Amino acid sequence: MSHHIGPMSKKHRPKLRFILGDQLSRDIAALRDAEPATDILLLAEVGTETDYVPHHPKKIAFLFSAMRHFAEEMRAEGFTVDYVTLDDTANTQSFAGEVQRAVQRHKAAEVITTFPGEFRVLDDMQGWEQACGVPVEIREDDRFFCPTARFRGWADGKRQLRMEFFYRDMRRETGLLMDEGEPVGGQWNFDADNRKPLPARIHLPPDFFVKPDRITEDVLALVATRFGRNFGSLDGFDYAVTRKDALRALAHFISHALPSFGDYQDAMRQGEDRLFHSLLSPYLNAGLLGAREVCAAAETAYRDGQAPLNAVEGFIRQILGWREYVRGIYWLKMPDYAESNTLDAQRPLPWLYWGGETAMNCMAQCVDQTRRLAHAHHIQRLMVLGNFALLIGARPKEVAEWYLAVYLDAYEWVELPNVHGMVLHADGGYLGSKPYAASGKYIDRMSDYCRHCRYDVKTVVGDKACPFNFLYWNFLIKNEKRLGANQRMSLIYASLGRMDAAKRAAVTSQAKDFLNAL
Ligand SMILES: Cc1cc2nc3c(=O)[nH]c(=O)nc-3n(C[C@H](O)[C@H](O)[C@H](O)COP(=O)(O)OP(=O)(O)OC[C@H]3O[C@@H](n4cnc5c(N)ncnc54)[C@H](O)[C@@H]3O)c2cc1C
Ligand code: SF4
Repeated sequence: MSHHIGPMSKKHRPKLRFILGDQLSRDIAALRDAEPATDILLLAEVGTETDYVPHHPKKIAFLFSAMRHFAEEMRAEGFTVDYVTLDDTANTQSFAGEVQRAVQRHKAAEVITTFPGEFRVLDDMQGWEQACGVPVEIREDDRFFCPTARFRGWADGKRQLRMEFFYRDMRRETGLLMDEGEPVGGQWNFDADNRKPLPARIHLPPDFFVKPDRITEDVLALVATRFGRNFGSLDGFDYAVTRKDALRALAHFISHALPSFGDYQDAMRQGEDRLFHSLLSPYLNAGLLGAREVCAAAETAYRDGQAPLNAVEGFIRQILGWREYVRGIYWLKMPDYAESNTLDAQRPLPWLYWGGETAMNCMAQCVDQTRRLAHAHHIQRLMVLGNFALLIGARPKEVAEWYLAVYLDAYEWVELPNVHGMVLHADGGYLGSKPYAASGKYIDRMSDYCRHCRYDVKTVVGDKACPFNFLYWNFLIKNEKRLGANQRMSLIYASLGRMDAAKRAAVTSQAKDFLNAL
């Protein structure tokens, strides 16, 4: 859509305020001093963003619909919003091209935008001033608790970082779950009370869904035509795409799921996609919800006696701790972080991640959930899908690309440290002290997947042996030189030390055959 405007004196040339698809917050820095009477807001759907990885169709539909709704809301406030759709014939299909075109058509005096979530986009933004011939102001994204400079200061001089210490500092700084300078309940972390398997009989929270409106229907049609061949199903799209509905999703989580969030945070059950998770990450990451208001709502539920401390502390730690911590590491370590591969993992990502057949029930279930919903919860991403990629030695770059493509909440600032640091140990232990490698025993304890599997989780070698078992020991054997000296793995390596030579050879040989057949 082009707006043709007449000549203007320099004094009246508008400011162009550029909003990215994950910056859909009314209080985003670039909009803070915006004037409806004079300024122009620009949002653009561009091919460089839809195509740099093969995104799940639901992810593209969610973002485009949320962007279009945000544009409508800003128009309702009286702003002039210039919205460039993907199928606009004049669309240059890049941010740089669209900002440049908009500067020209509006005769803008300057561009104001907010710090992006991906290094790639920042790199692009840094060229805009020269390309557009007007000043470009990139404002700090202060929706996060911890500014990037603050994190840099915290990390400075530390050889290894630990989330737990960062998290305690953030609690002190924000006052979240603090009473007179002390953590509420006398402890920083209540994980010892969490991580229970799901009992056979338990009342699960009701689903939350939003019926697509006309704007979403239009987007779904566009996405079906353009991206229908990407991995992932568009069927049953029911995510919130407005702040109003995202707030309803938050309220739904607080009243129905938060009270048991801590207890069953690590549990998995076949046929139950959501359990007690919040499903709020897409809304937080796109800007429909703010991290501060989400943490405050959880704390209020605790103070009002509606949710226990282990649940609320566990939930707040994910957002105030992990989410901020991974972002800090991303901006501290990029661009080198994306190249890290300490364990020298070189195997191509197997086709089963893109829906190829597998007899491993846990993998099939988690991939299928990802295909249907563009969502899987943390333990599925970490201990099933991630663990398998770690054990088989999949190339970090390919694993990262997969996670970035398939999840509704995936942006590089949050996805990459989770993949390279938490899952693959590709960063040499900078983010986490040891890899989360685990055998089938863990999956069996935390889920019912093994009960429906053709493999036997209790067997380590042989025809029916669970692949997670022999791959686990094979991983430890293969990486003994690199990981054997890690204090946090000493117990595991001690049990490997007790394994007799014949079993070691059998494990290695079965793993080799399995990997060759992948
Ligand atoms: C390999 C891997 C890749 C991941 N990629 C992403 C990603 O691209 N985007 C993303 O938002 N999360 C990612 N996560 C973290 C986590 O799995 C998701 O945030 C979570 O599953 C989202 O579902 P939820 O909102 O129901 O989370 P809940 O279980 O309800 O947790 C509450 C909130 O805590 C935050 N959170 C929890 N764990 C993490 C974490 N490790 N890092 C950052 N934030 C966290 C999220 O904002 C989440 O909404 C990844 C984890 C792994 C192991
Ligand atoms: S037996 Fe092994 S492969 Fe099968 S579901 Fe259990 S952990 Fe997964």
